[in-house]
Amino acid sequence: MTQTHDNLIGGQWVAGASYSPNINPSNLLDVIGDYTQASAEQLDAAVQAARAAFPAWSTSGIQARADALDKIGTEILARREELGTLLAREEGKTRLEGIGEATRAGNIFKFFAGECLRLTGEVVPSVRPGIGVEITREPVGVIGIITPWNFPMAIPSWKIAPALAYGNCVVMKPADLVPGCAWALAEIISRSGIPAGVFNLVMGRGSVIGDPLVNHPGVDAISFTGSQGVGARIARQCAVTLKKIQLEMGGKNPQVILDDADLAQAVELSVQSAFFSTGQRCTASSRLIVTEGIYPKFIEAMKARMATLKVGDALAAGIDIGPVSSLSQLEQDMSYVDIGKAEGALLVAGGERLKLPTDGFFMAPALLTDTTADMRINREEVFGPVASIIRVKDYEGALFETNNTPFGLAAGIATTSLKHASHFKRHSQAGMVMVKLPTAGVDYHVPFGGRKGSSYGPREQGRYAQEFFTIVKTAYTLP
Ligand code: NAP
Repeated sequence: MTQTHDNLIGGQWVAGASYSPNINPSNLLDVIGDYTQASAEQLDAAVQAARAAFPAWSTSGIQARADALDKIGTEILARREELGTLLAREEGKTRLEGIGEATRAGNIFKFFAGECLRLTGEVVPSVRPGIGVEITREPVGVIGIITPWNFPMAIPSWKIAPALAYGNCVVMKPADLVPGCAWALAEIISRSGIPAGVFNLVMGRGSVIGDPLVNHPGVDAISFTGSQGVGARIARQCAVTLKKIQLEMGGKNPQVILDDADLAQAVELSVQSAFFSTGQRCTASSRLIVTEGIYPKFIEAMKARMATLKVGDALAAGIDIGPVSSLSQLEQDMSYVDIGKAEGALLVAGGERLKLPTDGFFMAPALLTDTTADMRINREEVFGPVASIIRVKDYEGALFETNNTPFGLAAGIATTSLKHASHFKRHSQAGMVMVKLPTAGVDYHVPFGGRKGSSYGPREQGRYAQEFFTIVKTAYTLP
């Protein structure tokens, strides 16, 4: 018998119409638990509960909010190994990566516990003598949160924590593939002292629960992370209902390697950001842009390093890369390897499905060379352990290819030239730029987000999160 897990609506655990098994992608015989599927009526009840809780919560005072968020963060950090193991078991990151993500989630709640106490406004003189002007921030209302499967604990946390910190109520729909971490988070939140209805969890498919959440008149704002297609659809829907939106979407992140780069460092950071977490990170570098002087050496060194990577059960010790998260994602990854080959690219490492002792979605990380910027493999997000190399003449060519993409999330450069590093930081069209660091791997206390087709709306994380989760009021007083 597997354990069943229900929705959290108005402070009550409520069963949906049916349950779905949550399967471990490292071992398809391992069922983590059964998770309920909410109905559209339950989604409506969750929004009503959030609306009812909003007046009291939004005026509850910053100490109560700070205490609750601090309690949530403390429990997550205390249970990071257990939660990180659950994460690895349901999403397929290695256990160490899972513990890292759980730690990040705990730290985010702690950070926003502090932010509750740091919200400030402005008092400015009026152009009309004698009048006082105050600029303050107020909560937005009920926030609908929709999250993807690849960071099932960190992404819900970096949306829930600021939403609650600034006095909003939440209805969250996690990705259907990974309800386990979201449910664990909801269970911790339910015991934090936050009043019933302030935080609600509704599990189910995007088309069944996500769509009505976006369209619900009782929801004031939507914070979404996921694919560009779904994000653009949500933007269109929210334009009609005039909801505030924050969209974090896909990437096709470039990692530039210049002739003067430290070869070992360049290889390590490329392998890390292209293939770790099975390449399933929006900030993963899937385009390695290499200048011609280092190109042959770089390819040989990449192949040698990739030959040492251990793919296996996410919970096993000594594993570098876990499984792909689902069969459909594995099929997509493998199909892009074929698309690349058909377009003329050369597959120089990996790219095949691996048969391991347990039946799971294992894939050998793939490296494609001789690719050009116009190939689909370099224009579309694969979202798996697949990287392609683009050869360029010099730094100017590398910068051109860096920006030759509809996306703009993260960009990295490996170089020992201060001149090129400084120029790249200024001129790469990305929300986050890394010098001699992997494109994936960011701090939790500073803004996160991209530009062009990768992001839409205010930044997430750090104190910049208040742009989305608060609304500005300007008050004039005649004394
Ligand atoms: P997805 O298919 O777009 O799904 C994201 C979320 O939207 C899921 O909860 C999904 O529910 C829901 N959804 C689907 N259709 C919907 C609809 N019609 N209305 C409302 N919600 C709907 O993305 P994914 O495959 O989970 O995640 C991978 C993508 O996320 C990649 O593109 C990746 O780059 C991006 N990502 C971006 C960032 C960032 O910060 N920029 C971070 C991580 C991931 P179901 O699960 O039920 O389909």
